Amino acid sequence: MHPRFTTAFSALPASLQAAIQPLLDSADFKGVLRPQDVAFLKQETGLDDDALALALLPIAACCAVATVSNFNVGAISRGVSGHWYFGANMEFEHTPLQQTVHAEQSAITHAWLNGEEKLDAITVNYTPCGHCRQFMNELNSGTAIRISLPGRAVSTLGDYLPDAFGPADLNITERLLTPINHGFPLEGEALQQAAIDAANQSHAPYSHSFSGVALRSQSGKIFSGRYAENAAFNPSLPPLQAALIMMNMSNEALNTVQQAVLVECENSTLRQQDATQSTLAALGCEDFSLTLVSKTSV
Ligand SMILES: [Zn+2]
Repeated sequence: MHPRFTTAFSALPASLQAAIQPLLDSADFKGVLRPQDVAFLKQETGLDDDALALALLPIAACCAVATVSNFNVGAISRGVSGHWYFGANMEFEHTPLQQTVHAEQSAITHAWLNGEEKLDAITVNYTPCGHCRQFMNELNSGTAIRISLPGRAVSTLGDYLPDAFGPADLNITERLLTPINHGFPLEGEALQQAAIDAANQSHAPYSHSFSGVALRSQSGKIFSGRYAENAAFNPSLPPLQAALIMMNMSNEALNTVQQAVLVECENSTLRQQDATQSTLAALGCEDFSLTLVSKTSV
């Protein structure tokens, strides 16, 4: 078991401890529960879906990298495929707070990058902030996504975000988590191809400034991240943050990024380059390269 889980694990109810220990002990554990894992945990604990997700929140919150706030938030998103995805907040010292990732963004992006195409519910240990409510309003589940919090009745995003502003107000029909491929040809070595593949699947219906990032860590593994744009702009999640979410959920330390590639569109309205490069530098990674892809190739 990764050391970051041990304290929270020891505080879990005995039946949940016994049931989840083999998963946490597995070197393959990346904060994802498969449908059969969820079924097994429910059977062993007697908990229903909502109660089990609430009981697992302390484990998800162990993944927080809250070096600024020391406020650990955990979230678990539940996909229509039956998979559950852990998420946690991430903060980056020596960067602006705008670079921060919220737990809900982490759990949702974690699901998206694992190929989940729609979410049923999200469980979080504190009430979602306004930023996250707006971020969730970009999802293809719309305001129907269920939100579960400790000590509260389960409700929907519609209850938390009445009179919502969203993609439809800008006549945008694309939604976050609906698969898309912008068709940029995959070229170059593996890291660059991973970044192009991420840009291909990025959600940028407002600016069309598609972008993706791929990181190679000290372990040699590659983590990629897609840009997730938002109708209200500010809650958008940059592609670097998406890749760092995947790295964090794989239990790899964020200061072990060795090499990074950013892919952006030539002549696009927005640019991720400066923010990406400076956040990477704050994490100790200076091996950064930019690949521009052309819209004419789409
Ligand atoms: Zn939030």
